[in-house]
Amino acid sequence: MLNIILLGPPGAGKGTQAARLEKERGMIQLSTGDMLRAAVAAGTPVGLKAKAIMERGELVSDAIVSALIGERLDEATTSGAIFDGFPRTGHQAEALEILLAQRGRTLDHVIELVVDEDALVRRITGRFSCAKCGAPYHDELKLPKVAGTCDICGSHDFKRRPDDNEETVRTRMAEYREKTQPILPYYDARGLVRRVDGMAPVEAVAAEIDAILDS
Ligand SMILES: [Zn+2]
Repeated sequence: MLNIILLGPPGAGKGTQAARLEKERGMIQLSTGDMLRAAVAAGTPVGLKAKAIMERGELVSDAIVSALIGERLDEATTSGAIFDGFPRTGHQAEALEILLAQRGRTLDHVIELVVDEDALVRRITGRFSCAKCGAPYHDELKLPKVAGTCDICGSHDFKRRPDDNEETVRTRMAEYREKTQPILPYYDARGLVRRVDGMAPVEAVAAEIDAILDS
């Protein structure tokens, strides 16, 4: 059973890799945001507590997030876990260590998908798709064969997602640097951090992650 933390800014391909690990290895992704919403919806003891706090407009404490992760770890005793969005502070990292130790588990790897910010901006802002059939295109990487005409359905209408703009991408990168990256020195000191080139093709990233998990 493997327990890993997967880190990387939005657009680095973290979601794609986590989904693949769930499918291929039966691991479960413990995303704190999703878990919080699920616990509230399911009305679990921790969920009810979190709901009351959020309804007062307050931030859910580390203790509640830890309890939530504990609840989910108890449900997921046979598969490995991928932590996403937690821990974000040294204090939370210590809480995670305790949660795992209480269940006879340890953290095996902290995998960071490393990106080049400018290249990531180009990758995301260049995306567009056919408005009719959804075929994906890219300003630099994959233009339609005939300019302005969809290769698949022949439509002349294309669209871009509103948040695929430079400002949004750079804001998300800054959030990642401020909120998530500060945890890396804690794990670097323990020799747990593995860095993977998030700008490589999806299959190459997958192969690198697999090599780490199988090492
Ligand atoms: Zn089309």
